[in-house]
Amino acid sequence: MHAAVSGWTESAGLLTEPRMAALGLKHGFTTRRSGNMKSPERRAAAAASLGMSEPLTLKQVHGTAILDAAPENAGKEGDGWLLSTPGPAAAVYAADCVPLFLWSDDGRAAGVFHAGWRGTAKGMAAAAVAAFRDRLGIPASRLSAAVGPHAGPCCYKVGAELEKEFPASSFVRRDGALYLDLAASTRRQLVEAGLSEENAAVAAPCTISNPEDYFSFRRDKQDARLLALLSLGS
Ligand SMILES: [Zn+2]
Repeated sequence: MHAAVSGWTESAGLLTEPRMAALGLKHGFTTRRSGNMKSPERRAAAAASLGMSEPLTLKQVHGTAILDAAPENAGKEGDGWLLSTPGPAAAVYAADCVPLFLWSDDGRAAGVFHAGWRGTAKGMAAAAVAAFRDRLGIPASRLSAAVGPHAGPCCYKVGAELEKEFPASSFVRRDGALYLDLAASTRRQLVEAGLSEENAAVAAPCTISNPEDYFSFRRDKQDARLLALLSLGS
């Protein structure tokens, strides 16, 4: 099956992003059809079907720590991976949170990051752009971004206590309720960090309103996970 979803293409239960694919960047985002990525077997199978080795994962803590994709960093606390040399594949879990991919225009550096409302409020997208600049000398003007499926403003109702965490442009108000638009907040951070509007134009389907396609922590009240995978090859 091939179906375009907000810039993503689905094949055999895995989503890939055409701009990343065109640069030869191995990557993907799983769907419900790939199963719960907490399972090591499912994880290995998803990686294998994307032509990758089994990916390194992190103890995700809703922060902004970004680690280099080296074997010794596997399982450490953090919410993002930076890849700049051929080596192991790396991945972050999501199920409503934003899986963010960033890559350089020559496809020689890329990263994958996880941010729910806490990570987004702490500035994960901005921290990711800064990591490319500070660690790899790659300016924001050479970066492009994509986000995978996450809780969208159609469903992601939040309490008024979050209003102080984000600018007003991150919210949608409907019927007296407040909905958080994580993609809008991510786009704003990316543009403020120096990406062009075009390269920061991230959008993706909603995990909550597409139960046949995605797990959702909020909807399902259980912790089945989707996975965003990335590799520069080995
Ligand atoms: Zn929705």
